[in-house]
Amino acid sequence: MAMPENKFTEFKEKAFKFLWDEVAPLGDEIEKTGQFPREKLWPKFAEIGMLGLQIPKEYGGAGLSEVQYLEFEKEWSKVHGGMRVILHVHNGGNDAFVYASEERKKQYWPKLARGEMSCGFGLTEPDGGTGRDIHSRARRDGSNFILNGRKHLITNADFADIFQVVCWTEMQSGEYEISSLLVERGRPGFTITDMKPCMGCTGSHHGRLNFKDCVVPVTNLISMEGKGLEVALHGLNISRVRIAANALGTMERCLDLSIPFAKQRVTFSKPIAERQAVQRYLAEMAMDIYALQCVLEDTARKIDEGKKDIFLEANLCKMLAIEGLRRVTDNALLVYGGVGYTREYPIERLYREGRLNWLEEGTPTIHYLVAARRLLDGERTYKAFHEETVESPLARQIRLG
Ligand SMILES: Cc1cc2nc3c(=O)[nH]c(=O)nc-3n(C[C@H](O)[C@H](O)[C@H](O)COP(=O)(O)OP(=O)(O)OC[C@H]3O[C@@H](n4cnc5c(N)ncnc54)[C@H](O)[C@@H]3O)c2cc1C
Repeated sequence: MAMPENKFTEFKEKAFKFLWDEVAPLGDEIEKTGQFPREKLWPKFAEIGMLGLQIPKEYGGAGLSEVQYLEFEKEWSKVHGGMRVILHVHNGGNDAFVYASEERKKQYWPKLARGEMSCGFGLTEPDGGTGRDIHSRARRDGSNFILNGRKHLITNADFADIFQVVCWTEMQSGEYEISSLLVERGRPGFTITDMKPCMGCTGSHHGRLNFKDCVVPVTNLISMEGKGLEVALHGLNISRVRIAANALGTMERCLDLSIPFAKQRVTFSKPIAERQAVQRYLAEMAMDIYALQCVLEDTARKIDEGKKDIFLEANLCKMLAIEGLRRVTDNALLVYGGVGYTREYPIERLYREGRLNWLEEGTPTIHYLVAARRLLDGERTYKAFHEETVESPLARQIRLG
C-alpha cells in the first residue's frame, strides 16, 4: 500500500527541503575531509522518516510504494553522492527482511526505521565472481554454521550492525546451496577492515568482511535455506532500478545546471546558449532524461503491481541509465568548458559520482549478457515486452482512480 498522494507530497517536500537546506551546503567540506557527518545527520534522517522509507507503516516505516521511493533515490543523487550511497544501502538493507519471518521483521524493522540499526549487503568477493562463483562457505555443525570466506567493497561496513551475507551453506543432505545469512557485527571470527577511498561519492565507506570459522546460528538464515540466490537476485533487480533512478537524478541536475550556465556564458559577444552546437548538447540531454523517466515509471509500476519477474526490465533500465548518464555528464562538461573540470562548479563532482552507477549491482557486460540470454532463450520477445509495458489510457485512468 502506497502512502496517500497528498500525504506523500507533504512528506517529500519536508524531506527534500531539509536535504537542500542542511546537507547540500556541506558538499565542499565533505570533499575536503572525506567524511560525511553521518552521526550528526542520522537522527534527523530518522526523524523525517528517511531511514525506513519502504518499511510498512505497522513496523514504524513510511510505507512508500516503489514509484514514490524512486523520487527519494533521484533526489539524493542531486544533493550529494556520498549521502546517496549511504541511504541507498541502508534502505536496501531493510528490504532483506521482506523474506524473513514475522519474528525477525518485528525484531529489526522498527529499529532500522528509527536508525538504531543498519543492515549491509555482502555479496561481492575478492576470490571470485558474483552469483554461483562466490567462494564463501558455511559448513553445518549441529544448530550452527561455521562460516569461512571474504567479501569486499561492502558499503556502510564502517557502521552497519548486521550484514546479509550471501554464501554457500551445507544442506541437511550434505550438498551445498546458496543461502543468505544474517551475521552480526562483533561475532567471534568476523572482522571488518577498511578499504581506500573511492573516485567519488565521498564520505561513504566500503570495507572487507573477513570470516574465519565464524559461528552463525542456523536460525540466522533469511528466508529458506538454499534460496539465497533468489533472495539476493530479487533484491539486486529492484536495486538496479533504483540505481537507474540515481542516474536520472544526476542527469536532471546536470541539465538544471547547464541551462542557466549556457545563458550567462558569453563568447564572441553572444551567450553560448545561442549557438546551435551548444543547443544540441542540451536537447540531447533532455532526450536521454525523457526516455529514462518513461522506462523507470513503467518498471516501478510493475514492481508496485507485484509483477514477480522484472529481471529484463531491471537490466534494461540500468543499461539505458548508464548510457544516458555517460552522454549527459559528458555534454554538461562540454557546456561548461574548462571551468566544468574544476571544483568551482558541481559538474566535476556529479561526473565522478555518476561513474559509480556503472558498477553498482553489476557491470555493463553482465547486464548485456543476462538481458540477451532472456531474449535468446525465447523467454521474452520485444512484442510481448511491448504489450506488457504499454498500458491503455483507460486502464491507466482506472488504476489511478
Ligand atoms: C563504491 C562501491 C560500493 C559497493 N558496494 C557493495 C556492497 O555494499 N555489497 C556488495 O556485495 N558489493 C558492492 N560493490 C561491488 C559491486 O557490486 C561490484 O564491484 C560489481 O558488481 C562488479 O563486480 P566485480 O567488482 O567483482 O567485477 P569483476 O567481476 O571482477 O569484473 C571485472 C570486469 O570483468 C567483466 N566480467 C566479469 N565476469 C564476466 C563474465 N562472466 N562475462 C563477461 N564479462 C565479465 C566485468 O563486466 C568487468 O568489466 C560495490 C562496489 C563499489 C565500487
